[in-house]
Amino acid sequence: MAINVIDEKCKGCSICVKNCPFDAITMEGKLAVIGTSCTECGVCVEKCPFDAIEKTEVEKKNTQDISAYQGVWVFAEQRDGKIMPVVMELLGEGKKLAKEIGTELCAVLCGHNVDFLADELFAHGAEKVYIADHGELNTYRTDAYTKVIYSAIEKYKPEIVLLGATHIGRDLGPCLAVKANTGLTADCTQLEIDPVGKYLKQTRPAFGGNLMATIVCKDHRPQMSTVRPGVMDKAQYDRSLKGEVVKLEVEFNDGDIRTKVIDIVKTVKNQVSLTDAEIIVSGGMGLGKPEGFELLQKLADKLGAMVGASRACVDAGWIDHSHQIGQTGTTVKPKIYFACGISGAIQHLAGMQNSDYIIAINTNEAAPILETADFGIVGDLYQVIPTIIEELDKLEERSNSLSCASSY
Ligand SMILES: Cc1cc2nc3c(=O)[nH]c(=O)nc-3n(C[C@H](O)[C@H](O)[C@H](O)COP(=O)(O)OP(=O)(O)OC[C@H]3O[C@@H](n4cnc5c(N)ncnc54)[C@H](O)[C@@H]3O)c2cc1C
Ligand code: SF4
Ligand code: SF4
Repeated sequence: MAINVIDEKCKGCSICVKNCPFDAITMEGKLAVIGTSCTECGVCVEKCPFDAIEKTEVEKKNTQDISAYQGVWVFAEQRDGKIMPVVMELLGEGKKLAKEIGTELCAVLCGHNVDFLADELFAHGAEKVYIADHGELNTYRTDAYTKVIYSAIEKYKPEIVLLGATHIGRDLGPCLAVKANTGLTADCTQLEIDPVGKYLKQTRPAFGGNLMATIVCKDHRPQMSTVRPGVMDKAQYDRSLKGEVVKLEVEFNDGDIRTKVIDIVKTVKNQVSLTDAEIIVSGGMGLGKPEGFELLQKLADKLGAMVGASRACVDAGWIDHSHQIGQTGTTVKPKIYFACGISGAIQHLAGMQNSDYIIAINTNEAAPILETADFGIVGDLYQVIPTIIEELDKLEERSNSLSCASSY
């Protein structure tokens, strides 16, 4: 397929320019010209009142020289001068991918006065850090970040660009992909390099998690993915690692940034950081009533843990959505995950099955969660959890009396 302007018919009315959703048409004098970001959607063919645009059946040739693209880039999302945990996961995964295709791992850092974060990115394996430093980049805004990073993509031509599937990454990724006229796979849970073609195989859950789709972008570069936080292993930390800093030119013109941040409000939801928790005590409909979460909170307090929940409890209004774990909630990877009265539906498992140890408490010995659990306790959680708390109390007392004895 190709979209062509029939020069003799074009009257220069520029209706097509206004209607192209991809800003792919420009006027050269009185003639419409189709640019490289045309996706062949056909809108302009319909809109031209003079039938001056046609869609033809010619074989499409990829004009992009994909061999010119090299390097794996990780978007180093930072907020208030703090690198988001998902960035360390992306660097861990990016390192493996870069090694397999024999290229370098780079991070792209945007913000204001954020140079000091480069060392942290080097320590997590980045060999090069591109830094865009400007007052306008202090707080994330789509236009500003897109402009700066897209210019860098055009100039340095990365082969792969990875972003965390955070609110910011999910907003920025598609904007960059449209500008670069390339493919983006959202919310990936697995990435690997095709051993023969050396392109990126991007796997993500589809159809409510019932199907895993592997998507490739063979003919366009960069290959772009947003990656679900909490799924990949974090990069090793080594303070002795150093790399190269490349400063990106940043210049904004009037009208470049169309949004203004009036205020940033942190809600209670932001304080529930399940992604960072080492231990999570999670409850499901087996609690029977919202008050059941008070018992879970008691256990969580003993263990220094966070409280999680299944979607069914959130839907029932027993607990806020910020606690939800699973495909449509948060993905977690703690050291210990307690699943109390949770059946283990695939959508819940999608968010916690990579935990180091899973302990399930369930009255039904045929519950699917017991197949995934490392330790399964078949019993009523209202008997089991108080017993665990009692045993923890005893342990605490014993260690207190030991430390008292040793101090005499
Ligand atoms: C598109 C889509 C997205 C979804 N996303 C998510 C998601 O992100 N997260 C999520 O969790 N779900 C999600 N779901 C819902 C999911 O399919 C299940 O419905 C949900 O996880 C079930 O929650 P549950 O295990 O708490 O409840 P149930 O399935 O009702 O399980 C309750 C369990 O408690 C046990 N039990 C009962 N009484 C006791 C007791 N006294 N002591 C111990 N055990 C007891 C029962 O044996 C049972 O196994 C999604 C569904 C869809 C369609
Ligand atoms: S709408 Fe048709 S006639 Fe008008 S500028 Fe575009 S191609 Fe030319
Ligand atoms: S086919 Fe679609 S993308 Fe291409 S120029 Fe026409 S409207 Fe724009």
